[in-house]
Amino acid sequence: MGILVINSGSSSIKYQLFNMDDESVLAKGLVERIGIEGSRLEQEVNGEEIEIEQEIADHSVGMKLVIDTLTDTETGVISDVEEIDAVGHRVVHGGEYFDGSVVVDDDVKEKIEECAKLAPLHNPANLMGIEVCEELIPNAPQVVTFDTAFHQSIPKESYMYALPYEFYEKHRVRRYGFHGTSHKFVAQRVAEEMGQPVEDLKIITCHLGNGASVTAVKNGKAYDTSMGLTPLEGLVMGTRCGDIDPAAVPFIMEKEDLSPQEMDQLMNNKSGLLGVSGVSSDMRDVEDAASDGNKRAQLALDMFTNRVKKYIGSYTAEMNGVDAIVFTAGIGENGSEVREASCSELDYLGVKIDADKNNVRGKTQEISTTDSKVNVYVIPTNEELVIARDTKELIK
Ligand code: ADP
Repeated sequence: MGILVINSGSSSIKYQLFNMDDESVLAKGLVERIGIEGSRLEQEVNGEEIEIEQEIADHSVGMKLVIDTLTDTETGVISDVEEIDAVGHRVVHGGEYFDGSVVVDDDVKEKIEECAKLAPLHNPANLMGIEVCEELIPNAPQVVTFDTAFHQSIPKESYMYALPYEFYEKHRVRRYGFHGTSHKFVAQRVAEEMGQPVEDLKIITCHLGNGASVTAVKNGKAYDTSMGLTPLEGLVMGTRCGDIDPAAVPFIMEKEDLSPQEMDQLMNNKSGLLGVSGVSSDMRDVEDAASDGNKRAQLALDMFTNRVKKYIGSYTAEMNGVDAIVFTAGIGENGSEVREASCSELDYLGVKIDADKNNVRGKTQEISTTDSKVNVYVIPTNEELVIARDTKELIK
């Protein structure tokens, strides 16, 4: 069974074609710079890469190129578009409407559009991907998987902000959380690794990429998460500030004469590792600068790991314990120093990292010592596979 997974962004389309009979990846690729100069497609099949540079005016042209490349007699992996049995899409915001993946219909599309007010950069682009596929792959049913869905189990006392209640009623201002597909996947995987049902475990999952979030997973369900109404809250990220005193916002706006949009831009794109270090938003660059003696880069690193540690502590308190901590995504899977620093001085919890085992990149491995009370793991995330599995399940 061929399932195409699509992550449609404002100027890009990421895709993976799965053979779901054995969950193998037949092809994966990326169309980027849609509608701007230098647009191109990159595709990888069995480790071999091809690149096509051509004008790609919009998502429809981009998606057509994806299908042509997948079915091309030389570069292709299928002979006909009919071999795509279904399409699974990543959608960022499902609001309070969706606590799981669903088959697309008009009502689902309307709700995705309605949730665009909560994710104006993402949902319209995700919806565009769905509509383009409806047009170009009309016989394949489509499924959507939401970044927010897994977090819908979070109890009300954790998802509400202590603002006047009417803002929740009027505008649905609350914590939603993101990266849900990834948190759910690694929580289930760590339970498998530990040979225990996920329903019996208290797990803290740390998804540390450019965007970063921590989730408390209690008995297999999300119990709290660090991102909020938008992906800005919580950890220090590549360019996002994460938690700050909300009163700092009007204070800086007034001092610097900034509009709400400019302030939003400052907190989302100019803060975090980049803003503090002044060097880069990329963890590798910040680590390099810190080891060359750059004090602000070191400070950015320390703030990053300190914030991860704070969330581990607070989620342990909320769940009344923790059995496993998981690190995933770009930094979580590769950054041994970040993992080590985030777990240092957690001896009161019985967390002990094994330095040799922690020297690992991009593969599943337990990194805690055999006598550590809490199992700490690196687990590579695979959001595309979750979307493909959900799609297969739903179209049965
Ligand atoms: P995105 O949120 O864009 O999907 P990723 O999950 O790809 O992000 O993570 C990107 C981050 O991973 C970058 O900050 C990058 O520096 C970091 N990263 C990649 N490799 C390493 C490494 N070896 N050590 C530390 N950080 C790394």
